[in-house]
Order: sequence, then structure tokens, then C-alpha cells
Amino acid sequence: PDHTPERILERLTQEGVKFLRLQFTDILGTVKNIEVAQSQFPKALRGDVMFDGSAIEGFTRIEESDMLLRPDLSTFLVYPQFSREEGERGKVARLICDVYLPDGTPFEGDPRRVLRRQIDRAAALGLSLHCGPEPEFFLFERAASGHGTTTTNDHAGYFDLAPIDRGERIRREITNKLVEMGFEIEGAHHEVAPGQHEIDFGYAPALQTADAISTFKFVVKRVALEYGLLASFLPKPASGVSGSGMHCHLSLFRDGHNAFADPEGEYGLSRLALNFIAGLLEHAPGMVAVTNPLVNSYKRLVPGYEAPVNVAWSTSNRSALIRIPAKRGNSTRAEFRMPDPSCNPYLALALMLAAGLDGIEQGLEPPPAIQRNIFKMTVREKRHHKIRELPGNLSEAVDALERDETLVAALGEHLHDRYSEAKRQEWAEYSATVHPWELHRYLDLI
Ligand code: ADP
Ligand code: MG
Ligand code: MG
Ligand code: MG
Ligand code: MG
Repeated sequence: PDHTPERILERLTQEGVKFLRLQFTDILGTVKNIEVAQSQFPKALRGDVMFDGSAIEGFTRIEESDMLLRPDLSTFLVYPQFSREEGERGKVARLICDVYLPDGTPFEGDPRRVLRRQIDRAAALGLSLHCGPEPEFFLFERAASGHGTTTTNDHAGYFDLAPIDRGERIRREITNKLVEMGFEIEGAHHEVAPGQHEIDFGYAPALQTADAISTFKFVVKRVALEYGLLASFLPKPASGVSGSGMHCHLSLFRDGHNAFADPEGEYGLSRLALNFIAGLLEHAPGMVAVTNPLVNSYKRLVPGYEAPVNVAWSTSNRSALIRIPAKRGNSTRAEFRMPDPSCNPYLALALMLAAGLDGIEQGLEPPPAIQRNIFKMTVREKRHHKIRELPGNLSEAVDALERDETLVAALGEHLHDRYSEAKRQEWAEYSATVHPWELHRYLDLI
């Protein structure tokens, strides 16, 4: 009842909202928006706002450049005021939109659409995916010019307290803003590396989680700016310290009950859970190009920092790709430790779901859980346990994605082709660049 155009129009008026942002996401996960003024609110709520899609990454198909933004009315929220100056210009609200072609068909290049397709597939089996993400980020100083640096704003470590932890105030400020926007914040703490933080929010159905992740990133960056800092979700901004991941806790629900739980099952897990885990393991190498999309992402996926390198699962330790936290009952879940916060959350969750559903449909069995620290295993031991490694860089990852027909089908040909093309270009540019490491290592020596 709160999500009708009439009700939302009423709220826009009551709250004195001046600007309404119609948001959507390009294939790389960048949030885009068209902002409309008051006179256009009714038109926007009807889904009649058109835009030229030809300038947007992954949307380029000249012959279909006119697109419609249809707001998902359940995503309505009024932004809190981030600064006084902003407040003086008037309140801003947002709606997250699905992208349609003028003839009323959903646009294939819309990442939200890709996720919706997998959600529908799960719904046909009576299942819904829930996800609780753990996005990590760094807070850096800004130079006098305003540009970001890689100087962290503190030298604290895991779970440290103020005053060593200089992020406490700003984490609280971020938390307050998110709570104002309806987030349920479960906890916030300093992470392992200097300047690194984590704020956890409650798990929710997959589409809501994907929306929440992109809102979260916006709020973190916006509040950091207010404090003169740069918040970065770059997976590995500094060598030699932990990178930023975005572990995704995943579970399937059926009729309001956690379908991963089975007190009689092996490890207290249901058959369905084991099939889902097997599907995630099976498709992990193909998925990594989407869950870990940057050249830089692969510098986080190296041994020694609790980031996964090997395709294995465990009920006890954090060296595996998938960890099963000890909680059972409605909290029964698989923690998928591969994704990083630079991913497009819609595409990443779509592929996690597609992989898990494939495991269910094919009745895949996971290999035995590995309870030892995999980083301490020899190559022979790993071979004995048939533990595969993830692709080592973005180029190998895109190759693996292209070989995985299940995932290509989940992305849809249009989006997959655009995505791989963009990623191959990124890799080619990186490969053709001379990096400081090369000069440092070779210049004097050779
Ligand atoms: P970690 O021990 O890996 O640091 P956290 O406690 O930081 O884990 O985060 C746990 C996440 O798991 C939270 O986002 C929480 O909401 C989520 N979670 C709890 N139960 C479920 C569930 N059934 N399905 C999906 N996510 C869940
Ligand atoms: Mg955590
Ligand atoms: Mg943690
Ligand atoms: Mg963490
Ligand atoms: Mg975790």
C-alpha cells in the first residue's frame, strides 16, 4: 500500500522533496541517474521518463538508444541531508529503476534484469536467495588538491578502539545515515589493515541486497567526503596488507524457513545446501571475472591474507573459498569469500544464484570439506584433494567465464559480450603499460 504512485507522490509533497533521482546501473556497476524536478514527479512515477542509452557503458546499441526508466516503487527513499549546503538546495529522494525499451520489453543489458531472471528461476522452485554482504573499504587522506592519496587516516588494526582507530567517528556517522535510510546495521569495526573498515548490514532477499550494496557504497563515499577523506572500495589499494573483500553470506529460504538447515543432514546441512555449495564451487572459476572484476582484484586473491585462492569449502577455517559459519537454524548459510566490493552487485548475485541453482538442478555433490589451512598444503596435497586454483588474473578469468555456458546464459549474450569486451580492453591497456614495479626491479640491473 505504501508503494503506489499516489502514496509516493504524497510523501514527496509531505517531505518537501525538491529533486527525484531515477537511478539505474551500467554493466560495470556504476550507478547512473537522471534527476527530475517537482513538475516531472508524476511522469517519473508512471515510468514515462526516457533517456538516451547510447552513452552508457554496455547499453550501446545505436538502433535502440531510447530507453525508459520504470521505477521500482519499493525502493523509494528520501536521502538524509549530507551537508548544510546540500540541505539548503532542497531534499532529494531516489527510486531505483528497471530499464525498458520503448516497446515495453525489458532491456537485456540491464544488470537488475539479469538478477531478476535468476530470482524468477529460483521462485519457480519455491526458493528465494538471501544474502548478507560484508563490504570492506579503506579511508584515505585527501591531498590539498582534493585528490585521493593512499595515505591511510590511521595505523590501527583488527577491532582496535579509538583513539588508535581514527575511523570510529566516521563509521558512526555512516551508520547513523544508513539507519536513517532504513538499513539494519549489525555491526561496524576496524579491519585488519590500517585505515580499513567493515560495516555489516542485515541479510535480505537478493534484489534488495544488490540495491543496498550500491546505496551503501554511495553513502560511505559521501560521508567520507564530508570528513575530507576518500573512501575506496578498491580491492587491493596497498601491497603487503589485507585487501578489501565483500564476503557474501548466502542461504535459500522456502516458505519463510531456511532451506539450508537440516539437523539430520551431514554437517547439519540439507541436501539442497550441499547441491548449492557444489554449484558455487563448480562455477567459481567462471564467475570470478564478475565477482572480482578489476585488474587489481587479482592482487587481493593471493595466499596469506584470508582471501581465497583455492576452490574448496570448509566448515572450520577461513582459507577456503566457502566457509560454513557454525550457526544453524535460520542462520544456516554459506559464506562465499571470493567477491570484492568493486563488483556489480546485481551481476555478481545473479551468477552466484545461477551457479547454485545449477548445482541443485544437476544434483551436484560437493567434494569433502577441507578442515585444514589450505595455504599450508603442498602442491601434492592439493592435487591429492583435487583442489583447483582460481584464475590468476583478469585475462584468465574472462577466458574462464567464456567457457562457462551456464554463466554466459545467465548473463545473456548481449550483456556477456559487452562485458567481456570491456574487460579484455581493460586487460590490454594494463598489459601495454610499464608499471613502477618493472622499473624498480629491472632498470638498473639489466
Ligand atoms: P564474519 O564472521 O564472516 O565476519 P559477519 O558476522 O560480519 O560475518 O556477517 C555475517 C553476515 O551474515 C551478516 O550480514 C548477516 O546478516 C548474514 N546472515 C545471517 N544469517 C543469514 C542467512 N540465513 N542468510 C544469509 N545471510 C545471513
Ligand atoms: Mg564480518
Ligand atoms: Mg569479518
Ligand atoms: Mg571483514
Ligand atoms: Mg566474513
